[in-house]
Amino acid sequence: MQIASKLPATGTTIFSVMSALAAEHQAVNLGQGFPDYPMDEALIAKVDEAMRKGFNQYAPMQGYLPLREVLAEKVQYLYGTSIHPDTQITITPGGTYGIYTALTTLLQPGDEVILFEPAYDSYIPNILVNGAVPVPVDLRFPDYRIDWEEVRTKITPRTRLIMLNTPHNPTASVLREEDIAQLRSIVAGTDIFILSDEVYEHLIYDGIPHRSILRYPDLLERSFVTFSFGKLYHCTGWKLGYCISGAETMKEFRKLHQYNCFSCHTPSQVALAEFLRNRDSYLGLSGFMQSKRDHFQLLMAQTRFSPMPSYGSYFQCYQYHRISDEGDKDFAVRLTKEFGVATVPVSAFYRSGKDDKVIRFCFAKKQETLETAVEKLLRV
Ligand code: PMP
Ligand code: GLN
Repeated sequence: MQIASKLPATGTTIFSVMSALAAEHQAVNLGQGFPDYPMDEALIAKVDEAMRKGFNQYAPMQGYLPLREVLAEKVQYLYGTSIHPDTQITITPGGTYGIYTALTTLLQPGDEVILFEPAYDSYIPNILVNGAVPVPVDLRFPDYRIDWEEVRTKITPRTRLIMLNTPHNPTASVLREEDIAQLRSIVAGTDIFILSDEVYEHLIYDGIPHRSILRYPDLLERSFVTFSFGKLYHCTGWKLGYCISGAETMKEFRKLHQYNCFSCHTPSQVALAEFLRNRDSYLGLSGFMQSKRDHFQLLMAQTRFSPMPSYGSYFQCYQYHRISDEGDKDFAVRLTKEFGVATVPVSAFYRSGKDDKVIRFCFAKKQETLETAVEKLLRV
C-alpha cells in the first residue's frame, strides 16, 4: 500500500542520525541536545509523591491549574506582564508540540511564514504540512544576527507569521532590544502573527537579559510563545512544556489541543507546580550552565577548532577551517567515526543545505564527558 507523502522531501532528523552514529561508533555524544547528568532528586521525589497521592488520572485539558498559576506568577515576576492562567496558558507535551499546534492553529494553505535559518529542524516541515509556504531569511554570517532590512523585503500581503527563537538553536545567538524595536515596527498595523520559541529562556549568559515576547503585552496579543520543562529541569525525556498566547488565540489553540492530546502527564504537572514555587529552581540555571560553557570553551581553546560566540542555549558552534575544508556533514561524520566525538553539522538547519563549515557542540554534559571529548578532539 502506498500513501502520498505529506513531506516528500523530508528525511530523518539530524538529531536521530547523529545520535545513532554516535551509538554505533561509541562516540562521545555532543550532538543531540540533552544533558547526561541527572535531574534534581527533589523534583523526582515530588513526582513520586504525586503518584502515591493518587494524581494518576487525566489532568484538565488546559493543564493542572496550580501549575498554570505558578507559571503566571513567574511571568509576572520575570517580565512584569500579567497573564491569565485560565485563558492564556496551556500545558503541552513538549515545546515541539506547542510549536506545531500554534502553526496548525494559525496557518491556512498558501500563507507565508518568515523564519530565520539556520532554523530548528521541526519548523519547516511543520509549516509545509499545513500547506503554508516557508520564507527563509538567512541569519547574517558569522554573527547570526537578523538582517531586518532583508525581512522587510520578504513581507508580502500573504505574510501570516514571523517565527523567532531566542536564545537560538543552533547558533546560540540571542535577540537584543533593537531587534524587538525592528520587529514591532514591521508588524505594527498588519495582521502578522509572531511565534516565539523560547525553550532556552533561562540559558542566557554574561548578564544579557532574555528578550521574551512576554515582556511586551502589545506583541503578546499577536503571539504564541512556547516553552519546555525538559530544557528547564534537565529532563528532555519528560516532553512537557507550555504555550502562552492572547486569550482569543489561545481559545483556537485549545480547539486543536483538546482533540490531539487532550491533557498531559498529571504527576509531573503536580510536581512542577510545587517545585516552581521556589524561584531558585529557575534563577540558578543560567549560572549553572554558563559555568559549563566556560569550562568547555577553556578546554576547547587547546584544540584547533575556532569558537563562535555562545550567548545562550546549551550549544556552542565552532568553525574548523584550521583543520579541514571538507563540508560540515562529511566532517561531522568523520569526527564521529575516526575521532569518537559526535556533533551536529549546522548545514542541516538550512533548507538549501548552505554550508558555512560550522559544527554545533552541546555542552550540557558532565565535566568528565566534556573532558573526555576534548581529549579526543586534541588529536584532530
Ligand atoms: N525548540 C528548540 C529551539 C529546541 O532546541 C527544542 C529542544 N529539543 C525544542 C523546541 C523542543 O522542546 P521539547 O523537547 O520540549 O519538545
Ligand atoms: N533540541 C535538541 C537539539 O537541538 C534535540 C531535540 C530532538 O532530538 N528532537 O539537539
